Amino acid sequence: MAGPVARQFGGARRRLIEELQGKGVRDISVVRAFDLTPRHLFVPTGVQHRAYDDAPLPIGSGQTISQPSVHAKYLQTLALKGTEKVLEIGTGSGYQTVLLAHLAAQVFSVERIAPLLDRARDVIAQCGVTNVSLLLGDGTLGWKAYAPYDAILVSAASPDVPMPLVEQLAEGGRMLVPVGGREEQQLVLVTKRGVRFDREVLSTVRFVPLVGEHGWAENGA
Ligand code: SAH
Repeated sequence: MAGPVARQFGGARRRLIEELQGKGVRDISVVRAFDLTPRHLFVPTGVQHRAYDDAPLPIGSGQTISQPSVHAKYLQTLALKGTEKVLEIGTGSGYQTVLLAHLAAQVFSVERIAPLLDRARDVIAQCGVTNVSLLLGDGTLGWKAYAPYDAILVSAASPDVPMPLVEQLAEGGRMLVPVGGREEQQLVLVTKRGVRFDREVLSTVRFVPLVGEHGWAENGA
């Protein structure tokens, strides 16, 4: 990112970064990704003045952009080196997609709500990143054409770990997925080991539902 977009809200973005560092975000490449990503472009104009608060915000279609410190913890846990192929499920605003674009080699992201994906596509282009591919569809099925992935981030909550996503992980690859009820979930780190996978519970989280064939039904069943 360069030019006027980079300078807008620069002070607010620096304060957010200091707040994240105060909350334990130490990974230099993660801090740099936050510095390079203009969160104010990813939220509706009505809440733009709060874009650099460490808070979730509405993004339309009943969905929310997560709290920056939640993205930061996800990204710090994955400890990406910059060489990885990453799959994101739930593009939403596209904010985390751009953070990932600064931390990995290639980012593939799937969203099921067309107006959100259209808007995300525009903002991602404005950010000048060129290593992102987007797909409209049911992310519980993954994105088979580009599998396997070194890392998968699921940004919505599932009743259980979606098996097509495990299948699309590379050997030793890792996936973060919120698993549990519609209100509250456990953030699970899945590591692929041959035909099996390890499962480690990291924390309690609250995400919007993952709606799809291997997630929740639209009507809540
Ligand atoms: N990380 C996003 C937050 C998105 S909220 C951001 O930074 O803005 C979760 C998103 O997951 C919503 O946009 C929702 O529409 C999407 N989602 C839910 N179920 C999905 C599915 N099966 N496939 C793809 N996207 C899904």
